[in-house]
Amino acid sequence: MAERPGLDDAGAGLAPVETIVGVGPVLAAALGRVGLTRVQDLWFHLPLRYEDRTRITPLADLRGGEHAQVLGTVEAVERGFAFRPQLKVALRERTHTLLLRFFHFNRAQAEQLRPGMQLLCYGEVRLGARGLEMVHPQYRRVDPQVPPTLDAALSPVHPTTEGLGQRRLANVIAKGLALLPPEPELELIPAPLLRRCGLASLGGALRYVHRPAPDAPVDASMRGTHPAQVRLAFEELLARHLSLRSMRERVRRKMAPSLGGSGHLRRRLLANLGFALTGAQQRVVGEVLHDLALSHPMLRLVQGDVGSGKTVVAALAALAAVESGYQVALMAPTELLAEQHRRSFAAWLSPLGIEVEWMAGKQQGKARERALQRVADGAPVVVGTNALMQEGVSFARLGLVIVDEQHRFGVQQRLALRAKGDGGDQVPHQLVLTATPIPRTLAMSEYADLDVSSIDELPPGRTPVHTIAVSSARRSEVIQRLRTACAEGRQVYWVCTLIEESEQLRAQAAEVTHAELVQALPGTRVALLHGRMKAGEKQATMQAFKAGGLAVLVATTVIEVGVDVPNASLMVIENSERLGLAQLHQLRGRVGRGSTASDCVLLYQPPLGRLARERLQVLRETHDGFRIAERDLELRGPGELLGTRQTGQVAFRVADLARDAHLLPMVQQVGEAMLGHYPQQSSRLIERWLGSALLYADA
Ligand code: ADP
Ligand code: MG
Repeated sequence: MAERPGLDDAGAGLAPVETIVGVGPVLAAALGRVGLTRVQDLWFHLPLRYEDRTRITPLADLRGGEHAQVLGTVEAVERGFAFRPQLKVALRERTHTLLLRFFHFNRAQAEQLRPGMQLLCYGEVRLGARGLEMVHPQYRRVDPQVPPTLDAALSPVHPTTEGLGQRRLANVIAKGLALLPPEPELELIPAPLLRRCGLASLGGALRYVHRPAPDAPVDASMRGTHPAQVRLAFEELLARHLSLRSMRERVRRKMAPSLGGSGHLRRRLLANLGFALTGAQQRVVGEVLHDLALSHPMLRLVQGDVGSGKTVVAALAALAAVESGYQVALMAPTELLAEQHRRSFAAWLSPLGIEVEWMAGKQQGKARERALQRVADGAPVVVGTNALMQEGVSFARLGLVIVDEQHRFGVQQRLALRAKGDGGDQVPHQLVLTATPIPRTLAMSEYADLDVSSIDELPPGRTPVHTIAVSSARRSEVIQRLRTACAEGRQVYWVCTLIEESEQLRAQAAEVTHAELVQALPGTRVALLHGRMKAGEKQATMQAFKAGGLAVLVATTVIEVGVDVPNASLMVIENSERLGLAQLHQLRGRVGRGSTASDCVLLYQPPLGRLARERLQVLRETHDGFRIAERDLELRGPGELLGTRQTGQVAFRVADLARDAHLLPMVQQVGEAMLGHYPQQSSRLIERWLGSALLYADA
């Protein structure tokens, strides 16, 4: 076989970027900073978005939040100093004016701009205090007598870094694309599967997205629905799916202790519960016990709406492990929730003679040492926060790990947990509980490494929460309502949901509301709960509320998950228009847990936009967590739903789970066939899209 100099057997794609003419060590280093080390990395370094400078939008048609190109005459230029120096330019077109604002500018720039000049500007339009404006638009001066030349095609914007400009990057990518091998060599999806999907060719798709042709349909490209984009989104989803699936296969091949158990502890717990399991709980317990008895690790997600009774399912699984002589770790994302689990578990397990060990981040010194020792000595049940995952915590015989409210953890943490076995080939079984019902589409892509069980039935006797939306202008009426409710002996949550980066600001907002309610409700016991309070204080407050000693609990969203106080029957949620539906549903799930009819008041700041109105409407109409999650996915996207927007775990390069959900069944079919019959292509596909990312790292 003829050797191609500098190229690997697998083709031009795996050659280092330096093999491209004009890429020296300095440029290669800059490319390396954005993760581009091989030629194929360039091919798959896809644009984040496009800028449309192919047309001019009349000022009359501008809308806030959109990017646009506009043409107008400078009417006035003003150098101001409100808070910081700024340059303001009024741009006029017919009867409309747009304000351009610059905060970074030099004197020459300021002096160049004169009334009467024509400017062609591109930027994001936003709604300022006095109408529409553009902050730091790109602009150039044009001759008023000659129609300006516009771009022939959309301009792609690639992810980049300081010291590597768009143009230079686009240039290298173009050179890289010139090295694309012929289609059969580039294509990793086997031909028979590809034919069934009716997808565009890969090479053509790559050439298109990096530099859309002048005659390309602009709107489809901007929306991400052009066949070239669909092709790449499909391949990216496929790569993600394959990586999760192969991770799961790798874990499945390991050994785990068989936790069949004798059933004697479980029978005693069931007899003491005071209620019978629902049909759905029984079915899910059956699925979990079946997996636990196998000698390969269980990887199971149990999803069930708020209040569906997941905790008791977890307790039964834990007992199967204890009966078999193994340890169980139960982890929750917040200390408050972990503490509550400790209490439920202690109440259920101490009558059976089982101590519940506690391990949280705040624990220090001797207490921590003693806890570590007991865990190392084989304490049967350990409850805590993710402090359980930290180094230095070692278990004698860990057989089962239970993670509650999974969506706060995410894929990376799931991996870290699996590493916590006994170091040998043996790994613990894993049970994940989530109250965020995961739409089928998301489960297929984000949870393909887990089997899913659903508790799709609520315990009997629950009354649906009556939900209304009320403008914050009517806040005093709502407080009046609270007064009446408290007089009737009902307990109330008032949730402060200021969305701020800092826990301190959130706490302050809650303090202000707390003071307001204390004043408005004399003779009523109003307490405060927020994340900045000491763990002991939080627990004491929560306990007092649970015991009925407090009438009103003013809280931040710390109470979002897991809190269980059946007597609370009224909830007021501030700024509800700013929260995701799934989150509102979680919060609302804190009431309606007892036999009294419950109410939820969604306070909003008027005016409500169309989308916000629609979202609150969904919540008033339904209590079905699955329907709510589906709508949330449509309206806000997966990052919001899974709570991973900040950590970017759902970050795709081209795919968008909400937009491309229709591709997922096909992704799953092709994935199945590839894992079974084309393992090599599968690995290369994962490698191509995920490279050395943790997802693909050792499970
Ligand atoms: P979640 O699924 O939201 O975690 P929990 O496990 O906290 O729900 O259960 C909610 C409440 O319902 C608890 O007070 C629990 O004891 C109770 N519960 C659970 N299962 C049943 C059942 N089958 N019948 C009656 N009450 C139940
Ligand atoms: Mg729970």
